[in-house]
Amino acid sequence: MKTVFWFRRDFRIEDNPVLAAPCEICLPIFIFDKNILGDFKANDPRITFIFNKVKKLKNDLMKNGMNLAIFYGCPDEIFRYLKKEGYNKVIFSQDYTRRSIERDRQISEIIDTTIVRDNFLFHPSEIKKNDGTPYKMFSPFYRTAKNKMDESQLIKFPFNYSKIAGFNYDNIYIIENNEIIKKPISIENIGFVENCVDNFAADKSPEYLCERLKNLINNYESNREYPALDETSHLGVHLRFGTISIRELVRFVKSLKEDGFQTETFMKQLLWREFFNSVLYNFPHSEFENFKDVEIPWENDLKFFEHWKNGTTGVPIVDAAMRQLNKTGYMHNRLRMVVASFLTKDLHTDWRWGEEYFKQKLFDYEASSNIGSWQWAASTGCDAQPYFRVFNPYRQAEKFDKDAEFIKKWVPELQSFKAGDIHSEDKLFEIDVKNYTRPVCRHETESRKSIELFRIHFKTDRKA
Ligand SMILES: Cc1cc2nc3c(=O)[nH]c(=O)nc-3n(C[C@H](O)[C@H](O)[C@H](O)COP(=O)(O)OP(=O)(O)OC[C@H]3O[C@@H](n4cnc5c(N)ncnc54)[C@H](O)[C@@H]3O)c2cc1C
Repeated sequence: MKTVFWFRRDFRIEDNPVLAAPCEICLPIFIFDKNILGDFKANDPRITFIFNKVKKLKNDLMKNGMNLAIFYGCPDEIFRYLKKEGYNKVIFSQDYTRRSIERDRQISEIIDTTIVRDNFLFHPSEIKKNDGTPYKMFSPFYRTAKNKMDESQLIKFPFNYSKIAGFNYDNIYIIENNEIIKKPISIENIGFVENCVDNFAADKSPEYLCERLKNLINNYESNREYPALDETSHLGVHLRFGTISIRELVRFVKSLKEDGFQTETFMKQLLWREFFNSVLYNFPHSEFENFKDVEIPWENDLKFFEHWKNGTTGVPIVDAAMRQLNKTGYMHNRLRMVVASFLTKDLHTDWRWGEEYFKQKLFDYEASSNIGSWQWAASTGCDAQPYFRVFNPYRQAEKFDKDAEFIKKWVPELQSFKAGDIHSEDKLFEIDVKNYTRPVCRHETESRKSIELFRIHFKTDRKA
C-alpha cells in the first residue's frame, strides 16, 4: 500500500497525527495550491513565511530519514497524477472552512481518504447545548468546553518512521493541464518573490515563544490589554500553520498551572478560537452574510476606506494600529477591536471589507476567528451584549495607551505632542500637526448615527 501524507497547515513532525501511523511506503507531500495562491500578491510576505516553513519541514523529515515532495498546482489534478503513479490512499488533517471541505470532498472522489483531527482541540460540532444545537454565545460554550476537556483531547501523537517512496524530492513538481514540469525548489518557481517583514513571531520558534509565555502568563490577564507592553504570546501564526500543535500548547499551559502559574485567562483565549471555529462550521452562512438576521445599509465610502487601510484617518490609535498591521502583518487584539469598531460604526463600512483586508495582511489569519470577530465588532455576529457596542477610539487610547507610547511609535508625526492632546478629539480638530491629517469624522456624531441605524434595521430580538 502506497500512502500519501499530505501536510497542509501542520508544518511539524512533533505530535502530528498524520505521521503517527506507520505505513508500508509513504510519500509526504506539500502542495502550493494554485487556487489559494491566486488570492495572494507576488510579494506577499506570508508566502515567504510559508515557503520557509515548508523547507524546514522538509529538513526535519530528512533528519529523520524521510523527505517531502513539493508540488504546485490544483490538488485534484495532482491527486489524479499520484493515483496513476500507484498511490492508493491519502491521509491529512481536517480543515473546516467551506472551501476546504469542498476541496477535500473532491479529493475523496479521486483517492481513498483518511482524515485526522489536528488543528483544534474539539471537532466544531462536538460542543453543543443540551438540546443538541450549537452555541451562539461564548460564555456557555466556554463552560461546557472546559468541563469536557480531558486527556482525550491532549493525546500526544508519536513520530513513527515510514519508508518513503522513491521520488525526485529535489524539484518542485508543477502540474498544470496534464503537463508536469520539474523545477528547482525556489519561491520564484511558484510565482512569488521573497519578502521578509518585521513580524515578531514569524522568525521565532514556538519553543522560544512558549518560554516567553511562561514569563508573562502570570500577568497575562492584566497586561494583555496594553499594546505598548506587548505581553501576549504571539503564538497565533504558529497555531495557524501548525508549527506548534494546539495539544502541545495546552499540555504546556497545563504544566504551568500545575506549577502554580495563573493560566485561566490564557486558556480562555484558546477556547475563543475553538468557539469561532464552531460558529463558522455550524453557521456557514456567516462566512459571507450577517450571522444575525439584519441588513445594514453600509455607506462603503471608498475614500474613508483608503484612509482606514493606510492609517491616515487622523484618529491616532486607529492609524497606529493599521500602520502596525501594514508593516508587520500583526495587530494587537485590543486594537483589532478598536479598528473594526471604527470602520463599521464610525465609517459605516461593511465588516466584510475589513475582514477581507485583514485576510490580506494578517500572518495569523484564521477565517473562523477573523469572520467571527469582525461580525462581533460590527454587532451583526455572536455577542452577549444586549446593546450596540461602539468603541470610542479616544477613550480606548486613553485607557490602554495612556502615555501614547504605542501611538507615538507608529505615528511619529505626533512624537512631540502631549498624550492628553493625542487623546482629545477636540484638540486634534484644533491643532495643526505637520504631515498628519485632521480626524476624518467626529466620533460622537457617527456613533449616534450608527446606534440609530442599527436600532432601525434589527429585525429580530438581539438575544436570539
Ligand atoms: C477584528 C478581529 C479580527 C481577528 N482576526 C483573527 C485572526 O484572523 N486569527 C486569529 O487567530 N485571531 C484573530 N483575532 C483574535 C485575536 O486578536 C488574535 O488571536 C490575537 O491578537 C493573536 O495574538 P496572540 O497570538 O499574541 O494572542 P494571545 O493573546 O497570546 O492568545 C493566544 C491565542 O489564543 C487565540 N485567541 C486569542 N484571542 C482570541 C480571540 N478573541 N478570538 C479567537 N482566538 C483568540 C489565538 O489563537 C491566540 O494566538 C481577531 C480579533 C479581532 C477583534
